[in-house]
Amino acid sequence: MDKWDANSNSFLIIIKERLPRITDKNLHLIQNAYEYAKLAHSGQLRANGKPYFEEHCVPVALHVLNFGMNTPLICAALLHDTIEDTSTTVKNLKDNFGEEIAFLVEGVSKLGKIKYSGNEYHVESLRKFFVFVAQDVRVVILKLADRLHNLETLQYLPAEKQHRIAIESIMIHAPLASRMGMGKLVSKINDLAFPYAYPQEYKKTRSIMDELIKNSDETVKKIHRDLSVDLYNDLNYLPKIDNRIKGTYSFYKKLIRKKWNYKEIYDLIAIRAIVQSIPDCYRALGVIHHHWRPVPGRIKDYIAIPKPNGYQSLHSAVFSGDGHIIEIQIRTPEMHQFDEYGLASHHNYKHIDTQKGTDKESFAWIEQLRELQNSNLTASEYYSQLKTDFFEDRIFVFTPKGDVVDLPVRASILDFAYAVHTEIGERASGGRINGKFMALKTQLKSEQIVEIVTNKKAHPSDKWLGMCITNNALSNIRKYLKIKST
Ligand code: MN
Repeated sequence: MDKWDANSNSFLIIIKERLPRITDKNLHLIQNAYEYAKLAHSGQLRANGKPYFEEHCVPVALHVLNFGMNTPLICAALLHDTIEDTSTTVKNLKDNFGEEIAFLVEGVSKLGKIKYSGNEYHVESLRKFFVFVAQDVRVVILKLADRLHNLETLQYLPAEKQHRIAIESIMIHAPLASRMGMGKLVSKINDLAFPYAYPQEYKKTRSIMDELIKNSDETVKKIHRDLSVDLYNDLNYLPKIDNRIKGTYSFYKKLIRKKWNYKEIYDLIAIRAIVQSIPDCYRALGVIHHHWRPVPGRIKDYIAIPKPNGYQSLHSAVFSGDGHIIEIQIRTPEMHQFDEYGLASHHNYKHIDTQKGTDKESFAWIEQLRELQNSNLTASEYYSQLKTDFFEDRIFVFTPKGDVVDLPVRASILDFAYAVHTEIGERASGGRINGKFMALKTQLKSEQIVEIVTNKKAHPSDKWLGMCITNNALSNIRKYLKIKST
């Protein structure tokens, strides 16, 4: 051990503490990745003037560790900027660390090139494209850890860059974390980005929150005390009870839904009890409703009907008796762990297969990930199986501005034109694929840049029905032909 660099030594102590069953071989691999990346980044500084490797790569590796990942992704995290920012090549990484780690670093480097252009219309396609490029869910997780650390150190960047990164994080990264059930990470990303993305809205939201928190402080303390006594008497043990304050961004979204009428928001502060079992959750709910009158219509059973991302808990808002309404949340330790770490904690999470009422439409593509789950796997093994090739029947095509449009395989220029806009579809006469003019029926391939060429005289005809395959294009063409013939 004495030959180890002092810094890598303290990093390895943390790894050993957190992964007590790690093998010497893996520990050695992590040590090598540490020393290699440190050397590759030597002399480089971060925007805050401190050494790049220690101030960025190491914290990203610790985030990945916190998300429940192990050796390959920890190594990839230490090395994640070597291809992008140093003279290291993919081949260097393969030779030194093997195919898997090289693949993960290469993947995260590719994701670094995807930028959100500001067009909300195609943002869902961009999220899918992100997962498609990653090819492996672990690469997405690594990118989220990287982005989280960039947001944590955003204060050192110039204002324009802060704004761009913040908006992109809210539009792309936070929703992806949400699809993976990483609820804690979603609010971390959003809350770090919010003040830079929408400064005025942030200030307004924050001042409402601070006022409300101050006003209900005494009430919350009293309920907390009474609840401890009640639950102890009924359950014969003292559950862990804490207060959770809603994230600033999430409170802001709710303010918008309620048209800034903050008196209609009851869950700014929630008191959360963690009890030992599901039957105890329902017992605790009974105890609470016996003591405090519940607000009608505010009882939510996310145990029987989990949220689409897998979240489970019982929620109820109660009248405090002194003019306040306070939300109480009840859950088991497994549900709590899932809320913190999402799918990464699924391996010791037994209740996920009871989920009902899942919103299949909007979550279909991440639901497919979940079908692969196998309770005998550790989180890392589980993720390593999540190749994202469920997009193999989709293609991702770019507009000249860089927006992403996702289409089924064998889609044509005409399908693309209708996907961009119906009016553009109806006036399309051809398209430039990577600058070269092609006929409307030409089939597209992933990552091509397509510009539609329009012509005032062009219009849909019967022939067009044979040139496209998407429902959107076909139904718009039929609609046009029907109107014309009547
Ligand atoms: Mn980075």
